[in-house]
Amino acid sequence: MNRTAIYPGTFDPITLGHVDVVRRGLKVFDRVVIGVAENPNKKPMFDLDTRLAMVRQTFVADDRIEAVAFSGLLIDLARQQKANAILRGLRAASDFEYEFQMATMNRRLEEKIETVFVMAREDYTFVSSRFIREISSMGGDVSELVPQVVMPFLKR
Ligand code: ADP
Repeated sequence: MNRTAIYPGTFDPITLGHVDVVRRGLKVFDRVVIGVAENPNKKPMFDLDTRLAMVRQTFVADDRIEAVAFSGLLIDLARQQKANAILRGLRAASDFEYEFQMATMNRRLEEKIETVFVMAREDYTFVSSRFIREISSMGGDVSELVPQVVMPFLKR
């Protein structure tokens, strides 16, 4: 049986915390499809094509991982990709409220697709795309917190 999970997010930009979630997901799923959300209301720093390119370059060597852009309902993307599950990461209790609401809402929309959470690795619990953007824009070194391929994009 081919088990596929959709891992949705903004990935503005992808961090090593996200990479860790994908790696953990692959212990349970055969294939992980990363759904890069357009999310115009979040006013991302990187445009959709750039966010997608960074994710694709990060996982170029692993054919169990794919990345697609999406702008509609997550559950429609999951159906289209024949996914059994939605994969999300949890860092702290502060993530819980939002994740709980989203998982419950998605379950209302599609009973068959389960949301599965993995816990952040201890050394990445504090890593978020937002802090990467802020620290990097003020000249701080984030090279140990993002995939190597992201660094040239941050410098631009
Ligand atoms: P969104 O806009 O949907 O929150 P993000 O790209 O910020 O998108 O995050 C996508 C998912 O990855 C979320 O479930 C988030 O909790 C999780 N995540 C983000 N950073 C980390 C991290 N450092 N460790 C574990 N999970 C993380």
